[in-house]
Amino acid sequence: MTSLASKAFCRVERLCHHLPVLLNTFLVFSITGEVSYLVLVEAPLEADQKKTEWSAWWKAVHLLAQYFMLVNICWNAMLFLRTSPSIKGVFLGGEGMGQGWRYCYTCETHTPPRCSHCYDCNVCVLRRDHHCVFFGRCVGFRNYRYFLSCLLFMWSGLLYATLMNAEVFIVILKEGVTLHSVLLLLIPWIMLVSGQVSAQAFAFAFIADTCVVGFLLVSAFFFFHLFLMFRGQTTREWYSNRRPYSLGLPGNLSHSLGIRWYICWLSPLIQSPLPGDGINFRVTGSLDPTR
Ligand SMILES: [Zn+2]
Ligand SMILES: [Zn+2]
Repeated sequence: MTSLASKAFCRVERLCHHLPVLLNTFLVFSITGEVSYLVLVEAPLEADQKKTEWSAWWKAVHLLAQYFMLVNICWNAMLFLRTSPSIKGVFLGGEGMGQGWRYCYTCETHTPPRCSHCYDCNVCVLRRDHHCVFFGRCVGFRNYRYFLSCLLFMWSGLLYATLMNAEVFIVILKEGVTLHSVLLLLIPWIMLVSGQVSAQAFAFAFIADTCVVGFLLVSAFFFFHLFLMFRGQTTREWYSNRRPYSLGLPGNLSHSLGIRWYICWLSPLIQSPLPGDGINFRVTGSLDPTR
């Protein structure tokens, strides 16, 4: 009985671990599906509210742009999850440890500068930025490029979806700002459960809401990480007000995205090796906090 309970607990724990990724995947595909429908059918709620017909090639351009962003989001997310940023299997050098090296009592090893232990991943991560709760994995030296590219396409995709969904908001509010339309936009779930709206109206209102909220959230993350990348800083260094490894803008970009930083974000297929090894970093500023 105990082993059965512990097995069930393990299964639930594993599911909880993958839940953010599953939820994100569901949202990304739902939004893409809805926006594709908007492009193809052009009638978000009622047939008589159709706007002027789009030509076939214009629809094709829209669909192509959508699926280009979708493929980039999924591919970068997959590579981000598959690229281990940890010290596992990495030769950290002999005994020649210099400034910034520390000893991790959990991993029982000396670790290089900018490396730190993650208690969620239970391992030390090279040039650790933060533990991403949406992916359930650490962002570090080797997977930073995929994290940022994924964020870029999520941001552009949500901006596009929000603009496309502006029509949904217009249609919902067309009859005037009534209590019904405001409630549908604010609490679509409750409106569905209480039988006030159809499943179709709920789906459109829910996805339109998700696009706006998601866009605001992803914008904050994306611009914060762009700012950090330009400064050659990790989130941890930004917290502790240190910026000792900045190499100037081109240097910071190539050390984050690789030597083809100017083009590699377009597709994960473009090879862009990182110039450093994630272990040795050139110190260009004070290692102490600046204030
Ligand atoms: Zn450790
Ligand atoms: Zn982690």
